Amino acid sequence: MKRMMMVWLWLMSVVVSACAGGVEPSPTADGRLLVAASIAPLADFACQVGDDRVQVITLVPPGASPHTYELTPSQVEQVAMAHLLVLNGVGLEYWADKLAQSADNPNLIVVDTSQGIEVLAGTAGGPGGNPHIWLDPENAIVQAGHIRDALILADPTHADDYRANAERYIAELQALDQEIANEVATWSNRQFIAFHPAWVYFARRYGLLQAAVIEESPGREPSPADMMQIVDTAKRIGAKAIFAEPQFSPKTARTIAEESGAQVLFLDPLGSSLDDPSYFDLMRCNVAQMAKSLR
Ligand SMILES: [Zn+2]
Repeated sequence: MKRMMMVWLWLMSVVVSACAGGVEPSPTADGRLLVAASIAPLADFACQVGDDRVQVITLVPPGASPHTYELTPSQVEQVAMAHLLVLNGVGLEYWADKLAQSADNPNLIVVDTSQGIEVLAGTAGGPGGNPHIWLDPENAIVQAGHIRDALILADPTHADDYRANAERYIAELQALDQEIANEVATWSNRQFIAFHPAWVYFARRYGLLQAAVIEESPGREPSPADMMQIVDTAKRIGAKAIFAEPQFSPKTARTIAEESGAQVLFLDPLGSSLDDPSYFDLMRCNVAQMAKSLR
């Protein structure tokens, strides 16, 4: 019984991360703002900027992919009670319009954190371009700024708190950006093969090149001819690893790795393989994986 309870609490802590401790089922009972964020990195930004004035729910749960996840009715109910809905934008939340409609919450402030960010081409998020903007810390800074502005709009009384928190957090993100740049500068190989085109913003930021992807959009498996081409590319760039992702089956990555004499390593754009990850944990963990192959 005790063990069941522990498991339940652990699950709760993953899905509902109350930034100032405790799991509160009621959104406004203690005066905190209820913030629903689509993916874990955005939930972390909201926690950092909102601190003890917000309660944050992550909609796409650990292990699920935002490209394929479908919201549950209880999540729609939560959004119906929320003050803020924090979205990545660029088509990542293909369900956003339907959600806003079913939640029918006239007080909901919807934050598209991609505003002002230069979007790269790609089909992974639909026709709008490549949605994986958060994997470049410089974009993360813009996204955290949008969350700050929305919190101020929802709760102007505490504007100074949100500004101070955002300023501190943005300084930390700038330091992280420098840390990654210093690490990548030591790598001898600059080309990599990814599972899906999640790392193009990261690659552009740090002077790397995505030489190939296994699935251009998640769920679209490569043909035998595609596979041969990826193997050729892997050999040409001397890839020591083929990157898979924990949200998807590594089967194809394994086949390509075997054919090209590489190993399979995992990159995780959402950090769901880590226990309650921060954005910093997520980025450092991925950089460490890439370093194993590219250094
Ligand atoms: Zn993706």
